[in-house]
Amino acid sequence: MIENLRMSNVAQSQNLIQNMPTAVYTTDIDGILTFYNEWAAELWGCHPEVNNPKENRFCGSSKVFTLDGVPLQPNEYPMARALRKREPIHNEEVIIQRPDESRVVVSVNINPLFENGVFSGAVNVLQDITAQKKIEKSAWHRAAIVKSSDDAIVSKTLDGIITSWNRGAERTFGYTELEMLGESILKLIPPERHNEEDQIIEQIVSGEKIDHFETIRVTKEGKRIPVSLTISPVKNNEGEIIGASKIARDITDQVKTRNELKNLNKKLKKYIDYKNDFIGMASHELKTPITVIKSNLQLLNLKTKSENIRTMIQKTLNNVDKLTTLVIDMLDISKAESGKLQLNYGKFNLVSLLKENIQNMQAVRSSHHIIFEDNNIEEIYLNADKERISQVFINLLTNAIKYSPQSGKVKVKINNRKDEAIIRVTDFGIGIPKDQFSNIFSRFYRVEDLDPTYSGLGIGLFISKDIIERHKGKIWVESELDKGSTFYVKLPTNLSSEH
Ligand code: ADP
Repeated sequence: MIENLRMSNVAQSQNLIQNMPTAVYTTDIDGILTFYNEWAAELWGCHPEVNNPKENRFCGSSKVFTLDGVPLQPNEYPMARALRKREPIHNEEVIIQRPDESRVVVSVNINPLFENGVFSGAVNVLQDITAQKKIEKSAWHRAAIVKSSDDAIVSKTLDGIITSWNRGAERTFGYTELEMLGESILKLIPPERHNEEDQIIEQIVSGEKIDHFETIRVTKEGKRIPVSLTISPVKNNEGEIIGASKIARDITDQVKTRNELKNLNKKLKKYIDYKNDFIGMASHELKTPITVIKSNLQLLNLKTKSENIRTMIQKTLNNVDKLTTLVIDMLDISKAESGKLQLNYGKFNLVSLLKENIQNMQAVRSSHHIIFEDNNIEEIYLNADKERISQVFINLLTNAIKYSPQSGKVKVKINNRKDEAIIRVTDFGIGIPKDQFSNIFSRFYRVEDLDPTYSGLGIGLFISKDIIERHKGKIWVESELDKGSTFYVKLPTNLSSEH
């Protein structure tokens, strides 16, 4: 009867433990499992047999490690030690591994059991603390990062009272943590910038982050240093903003480099200006003697009766023309580079201008027939710089002839669309490789491996592009190697357009 009563007491307490929301197991004095609840089975990831000396002893899991990951022998398990010493073990933390190799961190609480005053084993209450450990670990990591960061990381209340101060802050501002905790942040702000703090707090209170705000702060020695600040609101568990965390980076070196770069840029610009001025002046000076040579040659041409001399003069005149183009190009490039290429706007008929240019070109270039397709359009009025538009067109015609020595024709076509005119100049010459379509509009660029017999400096298209773009137009090319090229110029015909 007494035996029955005792049995039912044991059953009752086991039932109670079974339903406890924590993992519990018991062993006899040899560490053989005598009981465990479902929570313990879940932690171990298995259901070992109770009262079986062949099962794992001291714990339901076969692998137990220290927190550092060092494997423990069964006789080193906390339960084995508690049984040996017959003493409780409280809050010891170990890692246990499940059969599927996943690991959990548990806190162990062991108490010896006595039956009728006789030592009979021990009970172990396990608590899964894996999540808590992870949080602790990441918090620890974060704290370690903040602590060792080179950047000054400071937190403060909304009243500007400093609540944390890392080593980076110590290095940047010279104050120790002890000197600054509880102090006002205003200690770091130059007096004339104190209102900055109010603005910062205003922004922080409205939940905004401040990114890379460049300002000046004062060190312990009174030295003013440029810093870049990133400030974020700090919230409590309820989500209320209770302060701000500040990362301050000393940007003395950056500011120095920036200033040096600025100065270098200024110097470079000055040199480029000198160079442009020189080219501008030199080409201007060249223009006068060339004009004199040209007019004298023309005069000689009229006076001479000798056919031979006339041929020689004509050849010389052609070369003088080439020289003139080069000098004008050089003058223009120096103007374009220094933004001094002036445009004189006026209203004119683009169709007439093209016809006129073609006629003039045809008169001196008999090698090619220039075919003009006007699409029955007699008038397209532009508000533009007539001389400059003419210069672009002559450049395109000259190139079309120059780069198609084997062909005898060049085609010019004009179209009028809504608010724009499109001019095409097509040749049937050497063509341009596709990967260099945009390069040819750069300064001094000539197509790679171009036969050196094609004279030129790679300036004309650069200037043409500058002129067209300043008229709010566009210039581009389509071409196929050994078949020819078409240059397109699109110009707005809206006369009231603002220039
Ligand atoms: P230049 O003709 O004096 O070299 P441009 O600026 O007018 O200078 O032209 C730049 C380069 O583009 C030329 O050197 C040439 O390689 C290429 N190019 C221009 N027009 C043509 C064309 N119609 N056909 C083939 N290549 C051309």
